Amino acid sequence: LVSRKWRVRPTVLDLGDGVRIGEGTLTLAAGPCSIESEAQMESVLQHLVDNDVRIMRGGVFKPRSSPYSFRGLGMEGLRLFHQLARARGIKIVTEVMQVSQVEEMHDYVDVFQVGARNTQNFNLLDALGGVDKPVMIKRGISGTLEELLSSAEYVFSGGNEKLILCERGIRTFETASRNTLDLNAVPILKEKTHLPVIVDPSHGIGLREHVAAMALAGVMAGADGIIYETHETPEKAASDGAQTLNFDESARLIRNLRRVYALR
Ligand code: PEP
Ligand code: MN
Repeated sequence: LVSRKWRVRPTVLDLGDGVRIGEGTLTLAAGPCSIESEAQMESVLQHLVDNDVRIMRGGVFKPRSSPYSFRGLGMEGLRLFHQLARARGIKIVTEVMQVSQVEEMHDYVDVFQVGARNTQNFNLLDALGGVDKPVMIKRGISGTLEELLSSAEYVFSGGNEKLILCERGIRTFETASRNTLDLNAVPILKEKTHLPVIVDPSHGIGLREHVAAMALAGVMAGADGIIYETHETPEKAASDGAQTLNFDESARLIRNLRRVYALR
């Protein structure tokens, strides 16, 4: 069902208020790795409004390698995130980690994010097949493109056709970067599926100074959008600060992404 053989026409998702994802528009989603506080959200929202970015990312349920790391503000954080974002006309993409969260999060999100550690959480995918909100599925840490497409097939066949695929880097033998952003994935996925494909250069390379280069490369490779991490003071971020752009870097990237997209 997610194959181009089933549907030739590219899928375009409408989030409302003129926010669209898919062919014909460059989708930009930016924000902190983790939602931390009201002040932090307000600063990011202002940055997004100033730069005409309509979608904010930010996790309230964080999958962390260590149980001692910051694990997110949970539902309380999400309710505030929703309230503040709505007031600015900004849409929300945030990670859902388990089946029980789907229902409680539902009214507060615009796009459910399935993280790389949950790409093959088939119970979660089944549950998301039953909701009428878009779902962005990240590629598994060591997942093939075929596996990513199969994960999308779970949601689609469950009745939810509002899907976005996200290349966020895979684990390879290379240690110079956090992950290896597989830009091959972009043209291959665009050929195989009618679903929108977006690139996450932040997790893909993991190094702030190189995020912009990989974001621009992702757009030239044919991505429908870019999702990346930004924070007023990346050094103080509760998670992923080393790959997070400050607002100056972010504003420059947004300008350049729009220029590059216009060249395609
Ligand atoms: C994130 O978006 O902050 C995140 C945890 O991403 P991933 O699942 O790709 O590691
Ligand atoms: Mn992160």
